[in-house]
Amino acid sequence: MHHLVTGGAGFIGSHLTDALVARGDTVTVLDDLSTGRINNLQLALSTGNVEFVEGSTSDAALVNDLIARADSCFHLASAVGVQLIVDEAYDSLIKNVRGCDVVMHAAANHDVPLVFSSTSEIYGKNSEGALAEDSDRLLGPPQRSRWSYATAKAFGESLAFGLCNDRGAPIKVVRLFNTTGPRQTGAYGMVLPTFVRQALDGSNLTVHGNGVQTRCFAHVSDTVRAILLLADTDEAVGEVFNVGAGIEMPIIELARRVIEQTGSDAKIELVPFDEAYGDGFEELGRRKPDTTALTELTGWQPALNVTHAIEDVIAYEQAATEFAAADVALNGSATGNAESNLAIASRFRTTEHTS
Ligand code: UDP
Repeated sequence: MHHLVTGGAGFIGSHLTDALVARGDTVTVLDDLSTGRINNLQLALSTGNVEFVEGSTSDAALVNDLIARADSCFHLASAVGVQLIVDEAYDSLIKNVRGCDVVMHAAANHDVPLVFSSTSEIYGKNSEGALAEDSDRLLGPPQRSRWSYATAKAFGESLAFGLCNDRGAPIKVVRLFNTTGPRQTGAYGMVLPTFVRQALDGSNLTVHGNGVQTRCFAHVSDTVRAILLLADTDEAVGEVFNVGAGIEMPIIELARRVIEQTGSDAKIELVPFDEAYGDGFEELGRRKPDTTALTELTGWQPALNVTHAIEDVIAYEQAATEFAAADVALNGSATGNAESNLAIASRFRTTEHTS
């Protein structure tokens, strides 16, 4: 089979591409490299079964050409990360909405099955226990930039259901809760790679608020396995599924574990939310998925826990440091061309748990 993966140079997209190639398929990756990195595709490209196209999901002619050649599409391209959404609210909103519009219409026109990756951010501030797919959305006002991401993804979901119901388009929706693992970058605010980098550098771990807010962290290997199971299940068409782990972890506890697992002397520093994200930022308290629907349909269960995720992110960040040093030593400056074990470290646990 041949797949189009939009956002395939990103964190989750590149692991999904690896998994598709590992099962003998071919992939075209469409990515504008705004937050994705070509290094994430080092292993995939070396197989010769992956074509990389640098471009935008808003480019209707390009997307149409690529979809016409594909047997299936995974639409992951998106501006993500709370920090990025808050800093570049308008650009992120337009990019996410236009990308959904173009990619989903092209898939519907060519009758190509599509999996759309939505987000737990859809639920907003609803923190009432485990959130099921039909739980209410509780969003702050639109003038708070954080909520524009939920609005864009909700548009994508509504578009998907509209195309399914009215035009019979074979679209499935996944709502991804906090996913982490190798290749995730802390540059756009994601907490685990941020803490690991801080611990390895010996700087303070910046815990926002008092750190009692909780999240459930899924390893990217488990997330990719869930996406593939749903892609292979016809009954998932026209439906939405939560994908995520069920164990809640207070952020301050995550920071302690990172310090312990890195063996770092780093300290924890509490940073007020307003200082981290600007005035009027609204934090959630907790966000936990109910994944009953996914498990009942596919049998999926997470195989890895947060300790595995921390281990893998540490290994990856250590390899990234060696990679950067080797690059500068060889080339005089950072070119991204150095040979290293970065690609190998970034693959930890992905293939062994993906079938
Ligand atoms: N967080 C933190 N320090 C950081 C980055 C994030 O304490 O350097 C917190 C953040 O405020 C939130 C949690 O970690 O409470 C998860 O943040 P992330 O951006 O990874 O995910 P999301 O907020 O989208 O669930």
